[in-house]
Amino acid sequence: MPIFSKTVKLIQLCIMKKIAFQRRLLKWHKEQNLRQMPWKGEKDPYKVWLSEIILQQTRVEQGMAYYQNFTQAFPNIQSLANAHEDTVYKLWEGLGYYSRCKNMLKTARLITLENKGKFPDTYDGLVKLPGIGPYTAAAIASFCFSLPYPVMDGNVFRVLARVFKINLSSGTSEGKKYFSQLAGDLLDHQKPGLYNQALMDFGATVCKHALPLCVGCIFQNSCGAYLENKVSDYPVKSKKIKLKERWFTWFIFCHRGKIYIQKRTSKDIWENLFEFYLLETNQSKDWSEKAVMKWLASEFESMELSAIRIYPAQTQKLTHQLIHARFIEIMIQSPIKPQKQFKGNWVSRKQLDHTGFPAMIRNFLEKSIMLS
Ligand code: SF4
Repeated sequence: MPIFSKTVKLIQLCIMKKIAFQRRLLKWHKEQNLRQMPWKGEKDPYKVWLSEIILQQTRVEQGMAYYQNFTQAFPNIQSLANAHEDTVYKLWEGLGYYSRCKNMLKTARLITLENKGKFPDTYDGLVKLPGIGPYTAAAIASFCFSLPYPVMDGNVFRVLARVFKINLSSGTSEGKKYFSQLAGDLLDHQKPGLYNQALMDFGATVCKHALPLCVGCIFQNSCGAYLENKVSDYPVKSKKIKLKERWFTWFIFCHRGKIYIQKRTSKDIWENLFEFYLLETNQSKDWSEKAVMKWLASEFESMELSAIRIYPAQTQKLTHQLIHARFIEIMIQSPIKPQKQFKGNWVSRKQLDHTGFPAMIRNFLEKSIMLS
């Protein structure tokens, strides 16, 4: 067969495969997709943006309540932009990845100030905003403005990797390039929003990470991974990230019903959230009452104590860090002298409930009966 006709055949095959993929997916979406989410079908870019920012690194089930709370507290971008930072962080508490919250506020203020609260209606305008990457920009562009940009989330990567048997990790630059080329080729340019939603939902409910529903799947007779009985091999994983270990000791200073808290202001995890007095060490530290007294004497001017309580150590795994933490409660008897270390605030136990803390501290507060 001449090379020319071979190429034409290959192109025809690719076009047919692409059309078949789109058709089956959209048919499934119309007839079988039962996934309900409060932001589904939403055209208001503020609400779509809010849902996408909340859902970055967060499961839909967890994100739903946050979405409801945010849209109730801030029904439009202006109200979010005008809100006090601490109120917004408090509402975000427990979601983690606090840089998302910081960028969300920045974007809300930028759009309100510079664009009278109107979201840009182009992909390029959206992707320039703080905290809006290609994924979120594609979601807003396709859902709200019907622009032909494919949304690439974990669900989409998984479906494409399995159906098209892609031996590249989406975590590598080569993989990213390949996946976005393929996703762009497959996209339905007439209905980009509908198609994107269908693909994401299909990945989340049928071609799931664990136990995909291959029996009866619409792609069963064309899915490369399934036909070779290699579904569990896809998507190809990237190399494991080495976690950085950190050791935190939080001293809970209590005095006459007040507790000392301070804001985390440096460019680090949990920026803008509150915490107790922190000592970070580069290795694990064995705390005894004697060791606490010795540390206090070296760190502060003398203070009379009535009790010390040392809580068991605990750990929390973040994306790139492993945090080992210990809480030590210290009841101060003598009046508090102004000490340069106490730059934060003394607040009541009740006020702690209205303060934004990292999940580790919030969990501690919920489970512990403090002395104060
Ligand atoms: S056959 Fe299985 S692996 Fe393939 S697309 Fe369907 S659910 Fe996913």
